[in-house]
Formats: sequence, C-alpha cells, structure tokens
Amino acid sequence: MVVLKTARELDKLRDAGRLSAMALQVGGEAVKPGVTTAEIDSKIHKFILSQGAKPSFLGYGGFPGSACISVNDEVIHGIPGSRVIQEGDIVSIDVGAYYNGYHGDNAFTFTAGAVAPEVQRLLDATRESLRRGIAAAIPGNRVGDIGWAVQSYVESLGYGVVKEYVGHGVGANLHEDPEVPNYGRPGHGVRLVPGMVIAIEPMITMGSPAVRVLDNDWTVVTRDHSPAAHFENTIAITENGPVILTQA
Ligand code: MG
Repeated sequence: MVVLKTARELDKLRDAGRLSAMALQVGGEAVKPGVTTAEIDSKIHKFILSQGAKPSFLGYGGFPGSACISVNDEVIHGIPGSRVIQEGDIVSIDVGAYYNGYHGDNAFTFTAGAVAPEVQRLLDATRESLRRGIAAAIPGNRVGDIGWAVQSYVESLGYGVVKEYVGHGVGANLHEDPEVPNYGRPGHGVRLVPGMVIAIEPMITMGSPAVRVLDNDWTVVTRDHSPAAHFENTIAITENGPVILTQA
C-alpha cells in the first residue's frame, strides 16, 4: 500500500533528507586512500548522532554498520570493516538518517584519488541515469517510466542494470511501497501522484549485471567482478515536479 504524505510530513521528510545528505557528505570527505571503511562509517555514525538523529540502517535486518560502504565490484550492502581504501578505488556509500519519525535515504559513489577514465564514465553515466529517473517522476507518469528512463540511458552506453534490488517508497519506514525498479516499460506500473515519496537508486555495472551475495549474507557483488556504481536520492512527487529531499 502506498502511503501518501501530507505537507507536514513532507517537511519532516525534508529534515531527515537533509541530515541524510549531510551524512553522505561527511562520508565522502572521509574517502581517501589509506582509510578503512570502518573509519568512514564511524565518522558518519558520529555525525548522525550529533544531529539528534539515528542511522536508519544500523541494526536494520541486523545490519552492523551505520552506512553501507561498497568498494569496486561491491554493488550495495558492503559492511564497514578493516578493508583499506586504495588509490583508484570507487567507494559507494549508502546512508539514511531517521529524524523526528521519518527517514531519508541516499547514496553516492565516491572516488579515492585518480580512477581509470572508463570507471569515471561509469560513475558519470549512473549519476546521469539518476537525474533522468528523477525527471520522469512527475504526476501522471508511472513507476515504469522512471525505470525506463534509467535503463534506456545506461544500456545505450553498454552498461548493465542490476535487477534484483530496487528503489522504494520512503516515510515513517525506511522501505515502503511502491518498489521502484531501475528498469521498466513506459506507461506501466503504479501511477505517480503528488504526496508520494520514493528513493530512486540506480545500481549500474560496467560489465554483466549478474550479481551474487557474499558469504557474509549482505554484500552484493558483480559475478564478473566488474565495477559497479550506485547513486540515490529520496524525492517527493509534487504538482510542480520532483523535489529532491536529500539535499544538504
Ligand atoms: Mg534506498
């Protein structure tokens, strides 16, 4: 069931979204060769608590970190730990803040030092696919229009769309209806109406989109070990078009 949000709830979602975006910035600034993913997570954790908020992901389904930190061929759900970031790595940070009863959710793939040009192109394309997905999130369109906007763009460039994991509604719960796949058919799926709040989060691979879950039961990696990128914003659908809630 899709829960539509009131103007008052949207204000609260904007607050949670802003803190989520700031937490993501804190994480991004910490990404450097030589740091561990646990150190990045610790900075994010401390920041969120300092704002009177809670990390949305900590303990969610038993997840042990405040952020998911996924490196190179790790697509999503990387567990922060002793892994040391190397020059040329790409580091996807996915983080949400729970504040005043509502969640925010956002992700960004950062770079550690200089990355290969083809890797940078993957990141640029994934970010652009998110922009296109958001642009399609207008009243009267359907969820399939968002997925199509993402999929048609990245596949035209030869990249893969991960299909096993999808975007979602956001509100008092971190994951609400509807599901928002990064693929779809134009004009199909749930109709988008003002008051819907959704996270759009393309997960795009340089090679095959086939993925598997590591033995830690969390981390999703590409089967062919090609790099993957992940960008996400929480947005509100309004009569005046999409509004990004996860803005610092
Ligand atoms: Mg999400």
